[in-house]
Amino acid sequence: MAASNDCLFCKIVAGLIPTDPVYQDEVVTAFRDINAQAPSHTLLVPNEHLASTNELQPEHDELVGRLVRTAPIVASREGIHESGYRLVTNCGREGGQTVMHLHFHLLGGRQLSWPPG
Ligand code: 5GP
Ligand code: ZN
Repeated sequence: MAASNDCLFCKIVAGLIPTDPVYQDEVVTAFRDINAQAPSHTLLVPNEHLASTNELQPEHDELVGRLVRTAPIVASREGIHESGYRLVTNCGREGGQTVMHLHFHLLGGRQLSWPPG
């Protein structure tokens, strides 16, 4: 499994940094965001290191499918499956990305506004 030594989320996936885990399988790990922006705010990350959506190749199609399909599973566990949620990924500086390991934010538990800031 490709991992980056100095990547925070690679360390979380490997269990080297304690987190509040929500879900993990052989492809995807989900854990609660340390700075929650909603009553339920989890991060879904591939166990494999990829910096952002900009690095995605055709070989990652299955991985992306698994990531997205994990969202409703985690949403069910978080109790926001029926009320609704937002699944979003930030890419690059102007996209607001601060951790360079691909991740989807899963937010819910309150009425979310649109457009985002
Ligand atoms: P980004 O800004 O890259 O889209 O999202 C990165 C997210 O990672 C932020 O929402 C931030 O709160 C979260 N985060 C940063 N460091 C940690 C950490 O050490 N643990 C957890 N659980 N979340 C973190
Ligand atoms: Zn990483």
